[in-house]
Amino acid sequence: MLERALEAARAGRARAEADLFELLSIPSVSSESEHRDDCRRAAAWLEERFRHMGLRTEMVDVHEGGHPVLVAEWLDRPGAPTLTTYGHYDVQPPDPLDEWRTPPFEPAVRDGFVYARGADDNKGQHLASVKAAEHWLAAGGPPGNHRVLIEGEEEMSGRSLPDYVRDNADRLATDYLLAADGTFTAAGQPNLLTGLRGLLYTEIEVTGPRVDLHSGLFGGVAPNPLNSLAHIIAGLKDREGRVLIPGFYDDVRAPAPAELEAWDRVPVTDQDLMERMGVTELAGEPGQPTRHRLWARPTLDVHGIAGGFTGEGSKTVIPARARAKVSMRLVPDQDPERVFAALSEFAPSLATPGTRARVVELNTALPVLVDVSHPGIGAASRAYEAACGAAPLLMREGATVPVVADFKEALGTHLIVTGFGLPDDGLHSPNERFSLDHYHRATEMAIHLMQELARADG
Ligand SMILES: [Zn+2]
Repeated sequence: MLERALEAARAGRARAEADLFELLSIPSVSSESEHRDDCRRAAAWLEERFRHMGLRTEMVDVHEGGHPVLVAEWLDRPGAPTLTTYGHYDVQPPDPLDEWRTPPFEPAVRDGFVYARGADDNKGQHLASVKAAEHWLAAGGPPGNHRVLIEGEEEMSGRSLPDYVRDNADRLATDYLLAADGTFTAAGQPNLLTGLRGLLYTEIEVTGPRVDLHSGLFGGVAPNPLNSLAHIIAGLKDREGRVLIPGFYDDVRAPAPAELEAWDRVPVTDQDLMERMGVTELAGEPGQPTRHRLWARPTLDVHGIAGGFTGEGSKTVIPARARAKVSMRLVPDQDPERVFAALSEFAPSLATPGTRARVVELNTALPVLVDVSHPGIGAASRAYEAACGAAPLLMREGATVPVVADFKEALGTHLIVTGFGLPDDGLHSPNERFSLDHYHRATEMAIHLMQELARADG
């Protein structure tokens, strides 16, 4: 059966590429209202495919004004494990348009890559797993149960899918969840992500005098919220990069030995990082190796400061208020709410006399830790070796993928977080592309994965 599915995949490559190009030519930009209908068109295109494949399919409008969630399933193997594959049909806006060599929604193939907005992020990646299911169905049906969950609000941080998953957790129960929205570590080197950082994004507001004051008339006795904000920011993190919020590091979990062993083999050096950033020194916590600082340690960064006068020339004002945007990337097992409570108590204590500080939470995402001993990790490794001839590295990612946390929280499922992009695919940039070879390998990897998961379970 496995051989038949693989044969179908190999024989169906031209058809699979034509399908991808069709999906890529729909400008499903979720954040722009003029593309509302295009988002629905992309969803309808997928729905049509799923019906054609014989999957039980539903297109759900979760929130008014949102973009539909697609659920398609084939659950005809009672007792066998269920694999759910996740993807998003929405894309980033294509601007700046004049930097595209060919138009963003007219897929063009050059040197084995298809160039189009959404090629890598995420249409090529999720269509590959859809294709895998299609080939298994053509070969008599997958060895386990399969569900596809595709949303249209990933690029705009919409709530439709997270809310849908929470409200339908029983119905969506699954043994494994494959989220393929990521990137190879280097050409020929796939990876499985074992951790994602979470996020706590806040605004610190400092108030002082009732109105802006003249610094000649009141300077010397007037409390200055901007000076106070500077003290607060300086007090949150020391010069070396250690965060000073009390208890901040209490819940930080050390990486597992299996992870550390793999991190030594990740082919990215300090020099590479410095070159990529255009700096001559790396910042960060003393005593923590680079990779730990990137993946396994929490951060605190200021993104913007507003207040007072920043126009041309000079104006001698003591501002009535000042604000800063401050975020923290959090790691397992930090809890955004606990950190927020600690910051809310600590920041005001750093304000200078006569000023008051308060912290407002703007958004949060839980950090995710993947249990590296669950059977899906071994199954995915074998599937990669079969499809790509290379075992994946176990590594973490410093960024935040909130939906993965939602899946883990709501469904309690084993996560397989990976991706088939290449580091220079230009996600969110002009001339985004996806390797057609990777597209076909991703399809074969998913075919093998379905087999391996059923085997791992039996
Ligand atoms: Zn994206």
